[in-house]
Amino acid sequence: MDRAVTLLSGGLDSYLSTAVAKQYHEVVLALTFNYGQRAANQETKAAQKIAKLWRIKHQVVELPWLKSLGENALTHTTTLLPRFSDLEKLKDKKATEKSAEAVWVPNRNGVFLNIAASFAESLGATTIITGFNREEAATFPDNSSDYVHRLNRALELSTLLYPPKVKSYVQEINKKEMVAKLIELDLPLDNFWSCYEGKEKMCGVCESCARTLAAFKANDLSEKISHRF
Ligand SMILES: [Zn+2]
Repeated sequence: MDRAVTLLSGGLDSYLSTAVAKQYHEVVLALTFNYGQRAANQETKAAQKIAKLWRIKHQVVELPWLKSLGENALTHTTTLLPRFSDLEKLKDKKATEKSAEAVWVPNRNGVFLNIAASFAESLGATTIITGFNREEAATFPDNSSDYVHRLNRALELSTLLYPPKVKSYVQEINKKEMVAKLIELDLPLDNFWSCYEGKEKMCGVCESCARTLAAFKANDLSEKISHRF
């Protein structure tokens, strides 16, 4: 088994991807980034819980400068988070594009992955796990397999001793399929945090919550997750 570093935000996607990755890699480190996002504390708590469950060393990387680059709804409460109270709105491409723009943090995943590559190379880890998936890639180009492919080419040149490859074990599936896999693997449903807000419970109306709710609903499993909202 090769060594791997996982980007564990504590959300559904990275939770599941890391669960599958554990079958193929020795996951030596889980990284969570605090860039001043609304949900930073909840995401860190969720990631700590997951890392503890699987006995993976966990580290929080502080990136305060990322928030200072400009206002967006993910890091600034003064900017309104788009609401998806009606799950049908998820099918409206204009609405999801508008939401993506509202929560966009400049080159966030590019920064995360290059930081992860430094950790990976220093630890002799040749894989970096992410939770990129088909559903998010439809709106976010930095979740796409094309991005991963091109980044991996760049990492071959920006690292020397242990060139790592970025890999997501949920890259080709959507959230409905991810929930089915979560249930199949019998993973605890209280461990992840998939909400842009950082309140006591997940808000249920931000795009991330809406996608999670829709995925459970599509599997006829709404009752399994309703207590989290
Ligand atoms: Zn939410």
